[in-house]
Amino acid sequence: MIFRWFRTRRRRKQLGQSADPSWFATLKRLDLFRGFDDAATTRLVDIARIFAAEKRWEGCGGQEITADVEQTISLQVALLILERPHDYFNNVKSIFVYPSGYQTKHLSGSGDGSVREGSSNLGEAWLRGPVVLAYDAALLGGMQAADGRNLVLHEFAHKLDFLDDRGDGTPVLDSKEAYKRWQRVMSEAYDSLRESLEKGRVTLLDEYGATNPAEFFAVATEFFFERAKPLKNRHPDLYDLLRDFYGQDPVGRFK
Ligand SMILES: [Zn+2]
Repeated sequence: MIFRWFRTRRRRKQLGQSADPSWFATLKRLDLFRGFDDAATTRLVDIARIFAAEKRWEGCGGQEITADVEQTISLQVALLILERPHDYFNNVKSIFVYPSGYQTKHLSGSGDGSVREGSSNLGEAWLRGPVVLAYDAALLGGMQAADGRNLVLHEFAHKLDFLDDRGDGTPVLDSKEAYKRWQRVMSEAYDSLRESLEKGRVTLLDEYGATNPAEFFAVATEFFFERAKPLKNRHPDLYDLLRDFYGQDPVGRFK
């Protein structure tokens, strides 16, 4: 209780000071935020700077943790919770950042939400542990915002899913009806992706989403923010579900 009081006071104090202009410069460099108005931009920066200040950042494999690194990652994280009730991902204490794809011998056996490319890993989200990111992929994800791939959104979507201590592709929802709807829409879209892949059809959603329901939610989140229009056309129920969950309507933003 007392800890929470200190934290609230510290956050308020921090938000009382204006953000360093470098935050806005970093945000402008990221295509992911094209079309955001000034009010949304300011709120994104406010979420991101509290997030950045409260996490432990660790550079691995020679990666230096600069303000730029923290900002580039934190701003993308902030997008997920911009319109949601949140506590700045209180299930993330540490973020490990590698320069690029890394080997995971020391991390093997986690089995939680990892994104692999060949023999090296680009990112991981541990159920009760840190998020690990390859910085080049995190940066590229923010700069190329129309390809439906975004490492930071992917790994932190896992962390939203993990808030109920389960990595099952269903995050915390606020009613029985909401869980029913989530179950119905997600399993329909997941089954249809798997079926399309089995039949060799071209799919909109990345095939990595067919791995399991947790990966499906993470991949669908990447598409929701980066390829909103095609997602809405192809999977309107899925789009609406994510629109209601994230409280954002990206299709309107990209007009
Ligand atoms: Zn994943």
